[in-house]
Amino acid sequence: MNSRETLKINEKGHLEIGGCDCVELAAKFGTPLYVFDEKYIRDMMRVYRDTIAKEYGGNGLVLYASKAFSCMAMYKIAASEHIGVDVVSGGELYTAVKAGFPADKIYMHGNNKLKSELEFAVEAGVGTIIVDSYDEADMLDELCAARSVKQKVLIRINPGVEAHTHAFVQTARTDSKFGFSVSDGTAEKMTAYILKKPNLELHGYHCHIGSQIFEKQSFVLAAQKAMDFIAAVKNDCGFEADTLNIGGGFGIWYTDEDAKIDVKGYAGYLEALIAAVKEKAEEHSLKQPFLLIEPGRSIVGEAGITLYTVGAIKDIPGIKKYVAIDGGMFDNPRYALYQSKYTVLLANRANDACTEKVTIAGKCCESGDLIAVDVPLPAAKRGDIAAVLSTGAYNYSMASNYNRNFIPPAILVNEGRAEYIIKPQTYEDLVRNDVVPESLK
Ligand code: PLP
Repeated sequence: MNSRETLKINEKGHLEIGGCDCVELAAKFGTPLYVFDEKYIRDMMRVYRDTIAKEYGGNGLVLYASKAFSCMAMYKIAASEHIGVDVVSGGELYTAVKAGFPADKIYMHGNNKLKSELEFAVEAGVGTIIVDSYDEADMLDELCAARSVKQKVLIRINPGVEAHTHAFVQTARTDSKFGFSVSDGTAEKMTAYILKKPNLELHGYHCHIGSQIFEKQSFVLAAQKAMDFIAAVKNDCGFEADTLNIGGGFGIWYTDEDAKIDVKGYAGYLEALIAAVKEKAEEHSLKQPFLLIEPGRSIVGEAGITLYTVGAIKDIPGIKKYVAIDGGMFDNPRYALYQSKYTVLLANRANDACTEKVTIAGKCCESGDLIAVDVPLPAAKRGDIAAVLSTGAYNYSMASNYNRNFIPPAILVNEGRAEYIIKPQTYEDLVRNDVVPESLK
């Protein structure tokens, strides 16, 4: 199976996660159902946190990139593990604040933050805002002036590292809607601009090279380029950054085409990064910056699975066999967006040999509403419980009510305990904000 310790097949031949039998979970909570393994999430947060403590004297902070999966329980878990979070919208910020997350450990991103979002961030006392445009800098400075506060900021830069991943999740090329390029001088110009803003306190830089990246060297290169840039800025305008945020992006296992990295293996990524930052600090006679990383997918991706009930089966001889499930692109749009690959099991017959290749189709009115194409599976029949693995990241957070389907509920499992962290929606929820205007009555 995958690289997780708590995903196993029990004596009944059922898939088990966090000590809970998936068939029993499906019977108790219904399907589709997102299931999150609390131990895996905590283990990942701890391994990053402890590596910064051990290898970098604690001079840094792990931020959980909550865009991967945002709900109040996740901010509670992150707070209890004494890590920070990054948020990218007023909605994520609201969820973190509502969960009582310490505001000083919240970092706010976004390439087009709304004025209302910046106001909310300043009023909530968000620790650091990562500035991504000139007018954002102007707006933020004015908002701070009106409130007589100073706001800590970082600038998002593009170090120009090409990561080997899907083009839509590469973010640090010169041609990107994010950040200021190091190579063409715009990042340095932005630095000079922000330094003149009386209400903004510039601490350093942020970069994020992309997502689902396995090559250590890509992260090392980004860190090296960012440190070279810090040195160049120090030489040119005397400003020495004291903070460097390297972003997230560590890859996870979806299918056997991906590497399986155990919890400790991820420490290796961070160790390599830290070594590069230390070396460059020495080379350029810089202080070692406060180091931030922002893993999202690697904290929560493999911690999650989605359970579905198999429905209609359509065999088109010589072409394809479609196995339809009671979910689809409304709970997992990643195949439709990126042709992402997944591993699928039958949770109620997890030991059965895979005898055919099938395509797992959703129930939406779209031909592209697929979850996994040509995947091995035992002969499935109506009523089987299908488990799609590694769905913890960017599934719930990208879900929608397309076709007025329900966004599935989510549960947290640990040592045989299973609790809701997101309740099921009802038909009433779907029409809650609908208005029939007078003209139609
Ligand atoms: N930080 C930033 C700025 C991002 O844009 C993202 C993802 O897009 C992340 C962190 C998290 O990346 P990942 O989930 O791949 O670790």
